[in-house]
Amino acid sequence: MLIFPCSGGSNVGQIANETAKRLTSQGVGGMYCLAGIGGHISGFAEATREVKKVVAIDGCPVSCARKTLEHADCPVTVHVVVTELGIKKSTDFHLDDKEIVKVENAVKEKLKK
Ligand code: SF4
Repeated sequence: MLIFPCSGGSNVGQIANETAKRLTSQGVGGMYCLAGIGGHISGFAEATREVKKVVAIDGCPVSCARKTLEHADCPVTVHVVVTELGIKKSTDFHLDDKEIVKVENAVKEKLKK
């Protein structure tokens, strides 16, 4: 399973990034490079199409991670949007651990379905 956070320039983008790092450390899946997909770098999309599950974690409804993957013909299995969990978008990069755990749990819940 591969995990793609949008890693955007906002608190929610960085919460997405932090969540992907934690899920990777826990062995839930492997964080992978969205920029490689967006840059059409050889091998990235091909490797992504080979895995069973593709998780996109987006900070906000603009959904850059999901759309980047879809443009590269990489279907997304699980999509989580941080702001949809009641977390407000801002440029305050002092991330709240409770919010990261909330996103982490939302990904895990969706994976069970
Ligand atoms: S999904 Fe939202 S937070 Fe993430 S990169 Fe796009 S605009 Fe930024």
